[in-house]
Amino acid sequence: MRVYVETYGCWLNKADSMIMITLLLRRGYNIVTRVEDADIVILNTCAVRGDSEIRQLKRMRELYRKYPDKIYIIAGCLAKVRVSEIRKIFEGKCIIVGPNDVENIDNIIDVALREERKIFLSDDRPMKVLPDYIPELMMHVHVVPLQVGCLCSCTFCVTKYARDVKGKVKSYPIDLIIENVKKAIERGAREIYLTGQDVACYGFDRGYTLVDLLEKLLSSIDRDDIFIRIGMSEPEAFSKIADQLIDIVKRDRRVYKYFHLPVQSGSDKILRLMRRKYTVDEYRELVRKIRREIPNATIVTDMIVGFPGETEEDFELSLKLIRELEFDKVHVARFSPRPFTEAEVMENQVPDSVKKMRSRRMVEIANEVSLKRNLMYIGGRFRGIVSSLDQKGQGVVVRLENYKPTIVKNVDDSLISAIVEVNIRDATPINLIGDIDKVIIEPVKIFRRVQICEELVEDAS
Ligand code: SF4
Repeated sequence: MRVYVETYGCWLNKADSMIMITLLLRRGYNIVTRVEDADIVILNTCAVRGDSEIRQLKRMRELYRKYPDKIYIIAGCLAKVRVSEIRKIFEGKCIIVGPNDVENIDNIIDVALREERKIFLSDDRPMKVLPDYIPELMMHVHVVPLQVGCLCSCTFCVTKYARDVKGKVKSYPIDLIIENVKKAIERGAREIYLTGQDVACYGFDRGYTLVDLLEKLLSSIDRDDIFIRIGMSEPEAFSKIADQLIDIVKRDRRVYKYFHLPVQSGSDKILRLMRRKYTVDEYRELVRKIRREIPNATIVTDMIVGFPGETEEDFELSLKLIRELEFDKVHVARFSPRPFTEAEVMENQVPDSVKKMRSRRMVEIANEVSLKRNLMYIGGRFRGIVSSLDQKGQGVVVRLENYKPTIVKNVDDSLISAIVEVNIRDATPINLIGDIDKVIIEPVKIFRRVQICEELVEDAS
């Protein structure tokens, strides 16, 4: 049987796709990269935004119209949230697999093919299977899920419902992760993406923390040629481990000097309505602490515009915070009412036209700020890793030690995974532009480039 996998959403969802691929490869299935070649089509979906939901449902209709005889498995967060709509698209002939069931995909396929059951929505996740490192699919990148769940109860968040587990947080055992990452590195992985719903609360359910994991992991790897990226951290959980975490990131160059801390609004009133568990001042202090200790750290945030009740004054406070904290990047999202959330039925919904205007303005301000930061790099020389091909086909993307993307033109994929030094000669709000001056460590090998991911919203989680 040949299987095609398409992934939507965040890096955690990508990791879940890799878990499914791992299990299917172990069972002897073949993974193909063109839907027309597949017997089984898996769509691993995302529920975070309304516009993306519309596109994913459209994709399902198109696929089913074109290939009605294939076996369809609709997995992930949207599968949990929109069971009946999805079943209707496929006239009942699809298998629904919630996020808690991905670790069991091989058995699920067996059961479903015998036509015994079609809907798999468990209320808990075993946390026993991690993805294998598969260079043919991921080149030198290995994505590792650390945990699911979070300590928050935000009024806008559908993920809380989609990925609900028993207990607020569930983490993979520390030794399982370390063994998995070490094996991947031995086999050639050079970038390790540690991901989760909120990586800062890793281990809270097991009596240890992300800091314990990093310390143990870094001391067990006797190599300098790796880059570890810590995924999105909610400010509340981050604040509990901030000092020790910042210290590790500061002193060990194998960890990207990169922090993704979603603030969502610069107004305390809106943060309260969102039920975020921090104030703007507390968030401000976290960012200042990072900048004090690691001035060149990349700090990325998420902002929602047009949350119910957001006035022009609240919105201006968000713009002020972006200017003041000079984020390297701001993911701007227009508020999108999601099912099973409190914010969907809140009063004072903001009209779409206002959300649109505000998001445009916020993107402009965020771009001004990030350009200002990026211009400071011009004339500098930095170490980094050739991470991927540039999506516009201009060359490659080198990630510096603080994860800043630098476009190097006219270089092909033969250098991917090489560790290099680049000279920066220009900048845009989105990236730096430079030239490779020296290859410090040669690429691992030439990987067959395979795309398994149609749409991956890196900023989503
Ligand atoms: S962004 Fe949220 S809703 Fe989307 S796939 Fe990730 S966890 Fe699920």
